[in-house]
Amino acid sequence: METTEWIFWQHSTVPVYQKQASLHDLVTKIVSCQSTRSLSKTDRALFKDAEDSDYVIATDETIFRPQGGGQPSDNGQMKLKRDRIVSFDVKLVRKAAEGQIYHLGGFSGLGQLLRGGDAVIQIIDTAKRNYHSRYHTAGHILGLAVRQLKEKVGDVSEVKTNHAPGMAFVEFRGLISGEHKSDIQERVNELVQRNIPVNVDWWDEKNAKAHCAALPEGFSIPDDGDVRVVDVEGVGAYPCGGTHLPTTGDIGETVVRKISRQKGVTKISYAIASP
Ligand SMILES: [Zn+2]
Repeated sequence: METTEWIFWQHSTVPVYQKQASLHDLVTKIVSCQSTRSLSKTDRALFKDAEDSDYVIATDETIFRPQGGGQPSDNGQMKLKRDRIVSFDVKLVRKAAEGQIYHLGGFSGLGQLLRGGDAVIQIIDTAKRNYHSRYHTAGHILGLAVRQLKEKVGDVSEVKTNHAPGMAFVEFRGLISGEHKSDIQERVNELVQRNIPVNVDWWDEKNAKAHCAALPEGFSIPDDGDVRVVDVEGVGAYPCGGTHLPTTGDIGETVVRKISRQKGVTKISYAIASP
């Protein structure tokens, strides 16, 4: 099937998921459609496992959260508004250096019907989004549980996180003994059971630096000013671009799996119950 390739307009995609994470469908406009073969070398490198038959679509705005910050990307569909038979399955979403958010996938129906400026309906896979959000929020809870226990486990600080199902962990600079596993598990359970509100907010530089539990290594204030922050009410906040759940109780059972130490860094892996 031949699909016309074009770049109707090239600009930064408006990341709607950042301010309206509960929006799971949205009508927006297509601004470019390219085959993976015609992407620049830099953009092609974002999609290592893509097939030559795949296409990359950018839209004016998007509710699809790209892969990043340890969270896998959203999946879902985009349907042409004037002819819903034309549908594009979104397999992977990545943010390019210039600010475009690219949706990688393939067409079902006649992809060549697409034209620049066409209205499409974006629909994200809600079950997957919620699962990723639960995993992600659980990572924050694990970090905060360890912080609350610092008298016992030591004064450590988060350096890296991965919230992908099956391989999730939080890494801390500093050593935590394996004997603290049950204490950490208990504190995680308590924070989940308390059903604490998880708020996403935008803070200025001063506030973010003063009130965040930890700032990522190499943290810098975005050019447009405020920092997106996730705040577990009364427990602690982090700068974060991920998707979260309204309360800690939504995470459900969280299991602290393993504590391992290497070169001054402690890695605590964790898992949550499947949906
Ligand atoms: Zn987060």
